[in-house]
Amino acid sequence: MRDLLARAAELAAEHRTGLGDRPVARPVDLAALRAGFGQLRDEPTPPATVLEELARAAEPGLVATAGPRFFGFVIGGALPAATAADVLAAGWDQNAFNAVLSPAAAAAEETAGSWLKELLGLPATASAGFVTGGQAANTVGLAAARHHVLAEAGWDVERDGLAGAPRVRVVASEERHATIDRALRLLGFGTRAVVPVRAKPDGAIDVDDLAAKVDGPTIVCLQAGNVNTGACDDFRAARAAAKNAWIHVDGAFGLWAAANPATRALLDGVELADSWACDGHKWLNVPYDSGFVFCSRPEVHAETIAYRAAYLTGAGEVSGMGDLTLESSRRARGFAVWAALRELGRDGVAELVDRCCRLARRFARILAEGGAEIANDVVLNQVLVSFGDDARTDAIAAAVQRDGTCWLGGTTWRGRRYLRISVSNWTTTEADVDRSAAAILRLAGQ
Ligand SMILES: *Cc1c(COP(=O)(O)O)cnc(C)c1O
Repeated sequence: MRDLLARAAELAAEHRTGLGDRPVARPVDLAALRAGFGQLRDEPTPPATVLEELARAAEPGLVATAGPRFFGFVIGGALPAATAADVLAAGWDQNAFNAVLSPAAAAAEETAGSWLKELLGLPATASAGFVTGGQAANTVGLAAARHHVLAEAGWDVERDGLAGAPRVRVVASEERHATIDRALRLLGFGTRAVVPVRAKPDGAIDVDDLAAKVDGPTIVCLQAGNVNTGACDDFRAARAAAKNAWIHVDGAFGLWAAANPATRALLDGVELADSWACDGHKWLNVPYDSGFVFCSRPEVHAETIAYRAAYLTGAGEVSGMGDLTLESSRRARGFAVWAALRELGRDGVAELVDRCCRLARRFARILAEGGAEIANDVVLNQVLVSFGDDARTDAIAAAVQRDGTCWLGGTTWRGRRYLRISVSNWTTTEADVDRSAAAILRLAGQ
């Protein structure tokens, strides 16, 4: 075991330390890659051989998403202490279902959960569930919302289901993230329950339009960080416009703006919402899969999710963990989150968020100077770039992906195609941005 784990760590470290020097992505022959993983054997294989075989088979298909010049999606690269903590979590092999199975995992989640609430500006009394990511966090938050608005209307949805239940409106921006719709499908609302609200030119929700659409039992979905523009909704005005609604905030990456004094004002009033979704594996730079769901009413969170109707322990507390997440048996995700927050400290988290925003602005400035059109006001870490017509913009995105200096994806926003840049990685430097912007402009000039 000792040699095997040491070798695994060595292979992982080799990959991580070489990330800045290799092409970010390479063309890959998927059929050959699959063939490299071989056939199911009859006979056992020694673990050390398995490890070498896996490393060899996977290598051609690894993408440098953890490296400093991957700007696609919203992707961080796990911090050193967080990576090491996740290695320990695998080695310790704890089941984070509850505090009986792993008191250590429970204590780490509770500690990291309260640190997260403090950094994100959320009520200290909120519950915190450590889920797989933004999708699961939105699903759990909206399940709690479903429970609460229907309970207020005299309906027990956990017992009686949705057939015959009072109608619930889900009021959400036309520019909501796709995970909201998937959560609504899974929760039995169906996507037709959505009453879409206009987005303003910057991508934030139009609160006047929102106010006009709240009616009866209502769930409002707000956004901290429009995935295209980075815009954050006006949480205080939305609360005033929807006093009796349940407000859920999808803050997969944007909620981190609260941890940085320079961007905190974007999230003014966010603490007035009822539930919040946030990711660890994006801007906090912890390993996949790691997300958080917070709920202002812990008892609603637990009544919605827990196995038992009686969710309270003898100590009068929500027992946490498996009572707050969709999974029963779980990897102990709290160790890596604790380690990331310990490594960075309050100042380090603020600096990481601030630096990414600064680098995004630098990216936008260099590209604009080079003739590109920047479509958004760069308030956070997201930049939308166009090179004129859609076909040209798409061709440049494809050329950038082939080139390998950096990686970014295309997106459609308001009917037009853009390159979308997200600066979310703790290792990205000004030199990485300059080199990437130069490559994009060079390819655009060809
Ligand atoms: C990434 C993202 C999600 C989904 O998060 P996952 O962790 O990928 O499940 C949801 N909402 C927003 C705004 C996002 O950026």
